[in-house]
Amino acid sequence: MLAEQNARNLEKVIWRLREKVSEFCLDRCSGECCRWGYNIDVSEKEAGAIFGVLDVGGIEDSRLDYSCEGEFELVLGPCPALVSVNGRHKCGIHSDSDRPKGCRDYPIFVEDKKVLFDNRCSAICSGEFRDEIGLLEYYGAMVEIKK
Ligand code: SF4
Ligand code: SF4
Repeated sequence: MLAEQNARNLEKVIWRLREKVSEFCLDRCSGECCRWGYNIDVSEKEAGAIFGVLDVGGIEDSRLDYSCEGEFELVLGPCPALVSVNGRHKCGIHSDSDRPKGCRDYPIFVEDKKVLFDNRCSAICSGEFRDEIGLLEYYGAMVEIKK
C-alpha cells in the first residue's frame, strides 16, 4: 500500500519536474542543448516535424542520418527546428506532438526506480530543482546526476 502510494507520488514529482524544466526551456534558456547538441534517435514523423516537411525522403542535410534499418538519427549542432525569438533560441516545435521523444524526455530519464538527470542541462545545473530531486529520493527513487 505504502509502496503504491510512493510510486504514485514519484510519478507526480517527475511530471511536475518535467513541466518546470519545460518552462525553463521556453523562458530562461537559449536552447543550449539544441544548439550544441547530442545525437538523438528520431522517428520518420519526428524528423519531418524537425525539418518542417511531410516527406523526409527529400531531405539532404548532414544533420540527419538514415540507418539501413530505416531508422533516423539527428546529429545535432544546431537543430534545424530552433528559432530565434527576441535574441534567444527556442525550439520551434516545443508544443508539437511530434517533437521527438528524446527531446521531451531530456534531461530526465526514468528507468524503473532509477531517475537520471543530465547536469549539462541549464535547468538542472541551476540547482533550483534540488527540493524536487530530494523528494524523489524520499519516495524511494535512486537518483543519479550525470556530470
Ligand atoms: S539545456 Fe535544458 S533548459 Fe536549456 S533548452 Fe535544453 S533541456 Fe531546456
Ligand atoms: S526538436 Fe526542438 S527540442 Fe529537439 S533538438 Fe530540435 S530544437 Fe531542440
